[in-house]
Amino acid sequence: MIEVNNLVKRYGDHTAVDHLSFKIEKGKIYGFLGPNGAGKSTTMNIITGYIASTEGTVSIDGHDILEEPEKARKCIGYLPEQPPLYFDMTVLEYMRFAADLKKIPKNKKNEMIEEVMDRVKITDMKNRLIKNLSKGYRQRVGLAQAILGYPDVIILDEPTVGLDPKQIIEIRDLIKDLRQKHTVILSSHILSEVSAVCDYVLIISHGKLVASDTPENLSKLAAGSNNLSLVVKGDKEKIRILLGEISGVRDISIESSGEEGEWNVKLTTEEHTDIREDVFFKMAENRYPILEMQSKKVSLEEIFLELTEDGAGQKKEKDAEQENDDKEGGES
Ligand code: ADP
Ligand code: MG
Repeated sequence: MIEVNNLVKRYGDHTAVDHLSFKIEKGKIYGFLGPNGAGKSTTMNIITGYIASTEGTVSIDGHDILEEPEKARKCIGYLPEQPPLYFDMTVLEYMRFAADLKKIPKNKKNEMIEEVMDRVKITDMKNRLIKNLSKGYRQRVGLAQAILGYPDVIILDEPTVGLDPKQIIEIRDLIKDLRQKHTVILSSHILSEVSAVCDYVLIISHGKLVASDTPENLSKLAAGSNNLSLVVKGDKEKIRILLGEISGVRDISIESSGEEGEWNVKLTTEEHTDIREDVFFKMAENRYPILEMQSKKVSLEEIFLELTEDGAGQKKEKDAEQENDDKEGGES
């Protein structure tokens, strides 16, 4: 349905979207998840043809957004981060205006507007000026505008931001209802929101895709691993090798604790394995004292935080640089 290929957006020397590629299939709800500034809105603005990319392509139902913008945009309904509302229009006036923009045929226009207003429950408000509506109702008007014309794809940028809990639930239910006939992409910086409504989650950090899976699989990833944190004294590389010999260890990261010759070690282990004794004996046999040891379960929230942590995308590169520095004996 939508294919995004190697999308890049640069603002000066700042890269807001960094080689993003993904596919969106029909009839599912997709969630763009990432902290503020991750590049969600920029990506959505490019997909919907509002801004141009620096590099890369977007095609919607086979239509390239740059080569056939009219055809591509016809498939999409968009609710941007700042809904494009005209405060001095009534709801009905605005809906008619939106219908004209979308070139909805005159003979279908009124019926379709009534239907959509009913669907998002704004019919009672149709003669009110938009400026006199609450934030929740304004958001619904924005949503109505996006749904109008029943486009195949509906893209919603942070649709529940600034709403109260009751309004959030109502908007979520509405979005879930859309699944039957539409493909929906919504963005959010809140994990629980995305896992509550989406069939598939794309986690974005610093303009890069850092994970994409179903919420169930992401949860399994979280449930399937435990973390063990240690402070160990001794030779960094030997500690790494010895710990790597323990079965059940999935991942090892070692950073300086700040004290000379002492290391903060983080071990990720497989599910249902308790490696604490093995770690203790291994380090004791080799005379590397363990100064601290702490084990804990990893939550989905932590995985999200870790994936999107400041510099998480660049962390591996930095480690590699660090190792090169070590080899050259250079100090930074
Ligand atoms: P998100 O929607 O995930 O919060 P955005 O896509 O709005 O993130 O922004 C991504 C990055 O691009 C941010 O660092 C933001 O400051 C920057 N950015 C967005 N729009 C512009 C712009 N018009 N000019 C310069 N920088 C921008
Ligand atoms: Mg945004």
